[in-house]
Order: sequence, then structure tokens, then C-alpha cells
Amino acid sequence: MLGDVTAERQARGGVLVLGGGFAGGYVARELGKRGATIVSNENFMLYTPLLPEAAAGTLEPRHCVVPLRAMCPHAEMILGSATGIDLEAQTASVETDEGPQTVAWQDMVLALGAVPRSLPVPGLSEHALSFKSLADAINLRNHVLHQLEAADGALDEEERARRLTFVFVGAGYAGVEALAELSDLAEDALRYYPRLRSTPRRWVLVDAAPRILPEIPPPLGDYAAAELRRRNVEIHVETTLESVTVDEAVLSNETRIPTNSLVWTAGVAPNPVLREWSLPLDEKGRVEADEFLHVRGHEQVWTLGDCARVPNTRSDQPDPPTCQHALRQARRLARNLSGTPEPYGYRMLGQVATLGRHKGIAEVLGLRLRGFPGWWVTRTYHLYQLPLASRKLRVVVDWTVALFFPRDIAELGRLGHPEKLG
Ligand SMILES: Cc1cc2nc3c(=O)[nH]c(=O)nc-3n(C[C@H](O)[C@H](O)[C@H](O)COP(=O)(O)OP(=O)(O)OC[C@H]3O[C@@H](n4cnc5c(N)ncnc54)[C@H](O)[C@@H]3O)c2cc1C
Repeated sequence: MLGDVTAERQARGGVLVLGGGFAGGYVARELGKRGATIVSNENFMLYTPLLPEAAAGTLEPRHCVVPLRAMCPHAEMILGSATGIDLEAQTASVETDEGPQTVAWQDMVLALGAVPRSLPVPGLSEHALSFKSLADAINLRNHVLHQLEAADGALDEEERARRLTFVFVGAGYAGVEALAELSDLAEDALRYYPRLRSTPRRWVLVDAAPRILPEIPPPLGDYAAAELRRRNVEIHVETTLESVTVDEAVLSNETRIPTNSLVWTAGVAPNPVLREWSLPLDEKGRVEADEFLHVRGHEQVWTLGDCARVPNTRSDQPDPPTCQHALRQARRLARNLSGTPEPYGYRMLGQVATLGRHKGIAEVLGLRLRGFPGWWVTRTYHLYQLPLASRKLRVVVDWTVALFFPRDIAELGRLGHPEKLG
């Protein structure tokens, strides 16, 4: 069936899915018994909307990921990095711990996602913390808890205040939710640090846009901003980060903020590996999809998710990079792969976000909810979307425990870095 292609292995069912994130994971799951081979550099799918809660400790980090082998029982999994594709020979090269492999395919799905968008800001790559992966969330949680310990041990007021200052650059979903959840974590943890109770805490949110959460309707965004201000979060809109050092962030409005904690959540850029693969890309580096989710000009190659520019026949706009869209694209792509292709179209049903402390915002079928109802709808929606009953149950247990007991404040920065023997 694969002609005279010589390859070390062939993709199961002829379908090779590069990337096991939201988009790739759901394509393989939707393909069901037809099967597929997934190449992913992690053996789980990260459910990113729950990442802020994993960072804040209301959820065990392990519970916001879904093992791909359980999520897609009919798929085969290769743990490794896709390093190249040959569109003529219909093969892909994969780098695994056991060495390089070549995989032959009949159909290939490009779902390689995005990476944090970096800008040439002095000091950014050396001093900023990122918030994109599970490792980032665990690192951020440990970092915040470490700042509390450092502030507690500090002998002068200035250092104490600096340790308790946290700057988030980027006020989209990731930045707002992470700031809200982590400030809750710090406030809860302070009950164990009596020396720090009188030291002011400073949480700062910075964005170049005129409003925070530009993705959601202005009344809900304004509610989120008012709620954060009520908690003394300092919001700087129409402002950019000029530079950052180990102990200071400087903003374009000339505010100088002494801090050891700058979190960069200012958007994502398509996976840069795609630039090396002779594919049709748009000006942002996204792979160009046609309305059937083929890569433009390649009937046997498909794309979706954050790495792709996907036209939407219902909105007449390319889709934004969200889980919601990746999931709908995955469903259409799986059907197109197995039957007669139909154009992709999806009308957004709503948007949800949490703001910590039992507060949230949600717009569902035109109904706008905020405060506790918004928070409840947000959690219910994520629980519904999360694959696997066992994962849902673990999340419910974590949430229930968090309602009755204080958060765990152990800083596990050395987890995964054991001491060498001898
Ligand atoms: C902190 C955060 C919070 C978010 N919150 C929300 C939210 O509340 N609601 C919402 O709708 N969206 C949210 N998003 C956006 C959402 O996560 C993305 O739109 C979605 O994950 C896109 O899916 P994807 O599969 O295209 O990319 P990803 O989920 O990033 O998956 C890409 C996969 O490809 C793998 N990969 C990359 N390169 C290679 C390679 N060379 N070889 C093999 N594998 C590779 C990666 O390891 C990853 O598993 C959030 C994003 C972040 C970062």
C-alpha cells in the first residue's frame, strides 16, 4: 500500500500524527479503531486550562494531564521529537532516546502546537519565567513558595518587599488565570509566615493592549479587571516591558519594579521547526490549511491547532489558538480523513476563565456569568471536557479536598533532581 517506500516502521492505519497535544491527541482519539501512530515528545496530553490550578496547588499537577496511551487506546505511540519530513517519499524522521527512526505514512497530521512568543527585551531570556508546560507550572509554584521562604529569612525590609513582588507580563487567559491563582496560593500560604503578615505584597499585571483579556466580551473583561484591582493587583495596560534583571523590571511607562519574579505570558508563536520543512506558511509562521484542513496544496497532509492557520467557514476568520477550536478541528479532521472531506466550520458557544477564590467569568450561549456562578460554570465545563472518567474523578477529589483543607505549601524544587550516590 505504501508503494516502494522503505522505512523502519509504518504508521498504524497509515496515519501519522506529529504532536500529542490537544489537537493531535484528539485526532488520534477520534480516529478510534482505525488507529494512528502518534509522535510526541511527551507521553501525555496537557489539559492547559487546568494548568493555573496545578501551579496554585488546588490540583495535583499529574491530574491535569491525560496519558496518551489511555486516551487513544487504538493508537501507537512513539516517544520522541519529529525532526524532519519528506513529502515526496511520505516519511517522517523521529529522534528517540533509542536513536533515529523513519516512519512511513499515507496521511500525515501536523499538530506540533506553539512555543512561548519571545521578544528582544533585554534580560528576558535570562530572567523571565515561562508558563506554558507542566514543568513551567511546577517550577512557578516552587518559585513562589521559595520567594516566601526567602522573604521570611531576609533581614531588611527592602529585600522582603522585593521577594513579595510578582510581575506578570501578558494579560490573556494564561497570565490572568495564573496571577489570580498564584496570588491566592501566596495569601493562603502566608498564614504559616507570621513574620511576613505586615509586609505588603505586590502583584502586577502588564499588557500592551488597552484591556486585559481581549479574547472575551468587554463587560466580562472589565469585571475581571475590577475583581483583580479589588485584590490590590496593579494593572498596567498599554504598557510594555522595557527590560528585566535579576532584581528589577522596568516598564515602558517608566515604572521601575524591584522584583525577583517576572512571569512571561505574552502569547505564543507557532512551533519554529515548521519553518524548516518547506511548507506553505503565513506571515506568523503558521502552516496554511485549506477549508478541509489539508495543508494547502498537499492532499495527504493535514494540519490543525496552534501551529496552523485554519479558516473557519462559520466565522469567516482564521481560528484563534484555543483548546476549544483545536478540539472542533480535530473532530472534523478525523472525519475528513476517514470519509468524504467536508469544510470545517465552528461557531464558538462560549468562553470561560477562573479568577481564583471561587470567582470566575463565563459566557455560555450568550449568557454572561461572573463571580461564583462564573467560577462554577468554568469548573463544570472543564470537568465535562476532560477525557477519561478516572481523570475527572481525580480532579473532583482534589477540588473537594481543597474546599476543606488548606493548600499544601511544601516547596518541591528538588523533585526529579536526586542527589548522586557517594
Ligand atoms: C497556560 C495556558 C492556559 C491556556 N488556557 C486555555 C483555556 O483556558 N482555554 C482555551 O481554549 N485555551 C487555552 N490555552 C490554549 C490551548 O492550550 C492551546 O490552544 C491548545 O493546547 C492547542 O493545542 P495544540 O495541540 O495545537 O498544541 P499543544 O497542546 O501545545 O500540543 C503540541 C504538542 O506537540 C508536541 N511537540 C512539539 N514539538 C514536537 C516535535 N518536534 N516532535 C514531537 N512532538 C512535538 C508538544 O510536546 C505538545 O504535546 C492555554 C494555553 C496555555 C499555555
